[in-house]
Amino acid sequence: MDDFQSQFTDVNTLGEFGLIDRLTNDITIQHSSTVKGIGDDAAVLKFGEDCLLISTDLMIEGIHFDLMYTPLKHLGYKAVIVNLSDIYAMNAEAYQITVSIAFSSKFSVEAIEELYKGIKEACRIYKIDLIGGDTTSSPKGLSISITALGRAKSKDICYRSGAKKGDIICISGDLGSAYLGLQILEREKQLYLSNPGIRPDLENQKYILERQLKPEARKDIVDYLRKADLVPTSMIDLSDGLASDLMHVCKASKVGAYVEESKIPINQESQLLAIKFQLDPITTALNGGEDYELLFTVDEKDLEKIRHMPSVYIIGEIVDQKDGITLHTTGGNIHPLKAQGWNHFTPTPPQKDN
Ligand code: ADP
Ligand code: MG
Repeated sequence: MDDFQSQFTDVNTLGEFGLIDRLTNDITIQHSSTVKGIGDDAAVLKFGEDCLLISTDLMIEGIHFDLMYTPLKHLGYKAVIVNLSDIYAMNAEAYQITVSIAFSSKFSVEAIEELYKGIKEACRIYKIDLIGGDTTSSPKGLSISITALGRAKSKDICYRSGAKKGDIICISGDLGSAYLGLQILEREKQLYLSNPGIRPDLENQKYILERQLKPEARKDIVDYLRKADLVPTSMIDLSDGLASDLMHVCKASKVGAYVEESKIPINQESQLLAIKFQLDPITTALNGGEDYELLFTVDEKDLEKIRHMPSVYIIGEIVDQKDGITLHTTGGNIHPLKAQGWNHFTPTPPQKDN
């Protein structure tokens, strides 16, 4: 490496979260209306009684999606869902989105219309108004950036930072299937590339493929929580993987956690498929991303309310920070929980992120 090059840091050495931290750690909040800036699933702005929540995500062809196996309609749907999920992860209602797209000349009007069919379908189902955006050309591929806006009363908002010792750790559904869906699609893509005459073998894998291609955001959980008059102490959506996202909560809350392996819900089809792929089902559940389930912590006094809530699984407990973040295995061992989530700029295979 010459002297000139050695003055510059390779982005890979910092990783995605390290880079965000380096770029933003000197930013100071200048307005009292900014209740929460960088560092959670959404920013929180307070004007009067209610808070406005804002979250944005960028999806790039070849990094976040592969159009060889992603139908444009599904892509549009998913691009909305991943943003709504960040608003619900704050225990807020989502109401509006803006959509910005950049695309090359290889895309026809009909192709972009197909993308919008998915966007509009998600807006219809989740009752979201599409209120604006931006459209531009790009030298290569397709990029979509969506910003979601939501609203909540300040007392209802759940941050990553509110978990405390003794809280119960809950998740809203089974984990690992979205990652396995991606493995199937990648496998079929490789088979097709080596023999274009071959028909994809996607029979009996509807659930797993849908978890990857057409995920849902857990608005229903936010509704259940409201009905039960229960405000979690912290919440995050599982976009990077349970291990990585639980670590975000623990870091922000300055606590540790233990998770019981036997309590982590895994869909039966996914379990079988993981084994077929020679993957440990628990590892895919811990580290596979993009399930878009909610992970939240509740005070132990609310155990009864949680027990009766549909599709909520209790997987562990918050402990002192000094006790670390651990996995209690079915065999009775205790391991430190390692995050291998989708960190964009470190070479952890396969390269994926949302
Ligand atoms: P999520 O996975 O919930 O979408 P991210 O990991 O993408 O969250 O981002 C973590 C935090 O960093 C968020 O508060 C986000 O708004 C902020 N952030 C991400 N990228 C940037 C950036 N380039 N500049 C400023 N803030 C950023
Ligand atoms: Mg999030």
